[in-house]
Amino acid sequence: MDTELRLKKRRLIIAGNWKMNKTVAEGLELVQSLKRDLANVKEVDVVVCPPYTALSEVSKEILDSNIRLGAQNMSEHGSGAYTGEIAAGMLKEFSVRYVILGHSERRQYQQESDALVARKALAAHAASLKPIVCVGESLQERESGATNKVVETQVRGSLAGMTKDQAAETIVAYEPVWAIGTGKTASSEQAQEVHAFIRSILTSMFDEQISRRMRIQYGGSVKAGNAKELMSQPDVDGALVGGASLEARSFADIIKNSL
Ligand code: PEP
Repeated sequence: MDTELRLKKRRLIIAGNWKMNKTVAEGLELVQSLKRDLANVKEVDVVVCPPYTALSEVSKEILDSNIRLGAQNMSEHGSGAYTGEIAAGMLKEFSVRYVILGHSERRQYQQESDALVARKALAAHAASLKPIVCVGESLQERESGATNKVVETQVRGSLAGMTKDQAAETIVAYEPVWAIGTGKTASSEQAQEVHAFIRSILTSMFDEQISRRMRIQYGGSVKAGNAKELMSQPDVDGALVGGASLEARSFADIIKNSL
């Protein structure tokens, strides 16, 4: 990325969403390699989001590194009779700093609504966790010309009730559903267009100063080969990476190619 553009932009944040993959041993092996490969990378916020079961061990392993920890979901509640759920305070015990909320897979398989995502995001902020709030249209919505309408509804609904200070600490991930795990990536122009649109919504919800500070990640089949082009777009401030984050080499290459 050219120096002038980088100076104008926000600090990149590149997060790996491991989804329901990796045992504790496999997760440790992955972060040990990442620590070696990324030891000299200081310009990007690097985050790994293992399944809950690996948070404790991965947290210890990355203690002395520039890699930060994220979770893939959390409850809107602080504690209580919610079998199978995990509260923000529990994530904090493992030095988790980020939490992915409203991923399209949770919206699809767990019927998570914008209102629920908003309540979770407020609970995350209350515990000083930074939410990574995912939004994005389906293929059918894109083809019918509804992308902006869908994305605007999700952004407004999922960030509802946030103060300006909380918004500034929130990351929005634009993940077109048709590009997740399919090998189809949005072109850098398509990504930039929606990212700029999202930033305009954030300006109208909060103000320009806040929206200029907020980071908007792109997600959907990001790989080493397309990272540079995507990250060089003026409103693309990082990536949320699924498949390519499961292997140290490909995740590290995405990060290095984004610099
Ligand atoms: C994701 O699930 O957040 C994602 C972007 O996945 P992939 O990179 O595999 O498309």
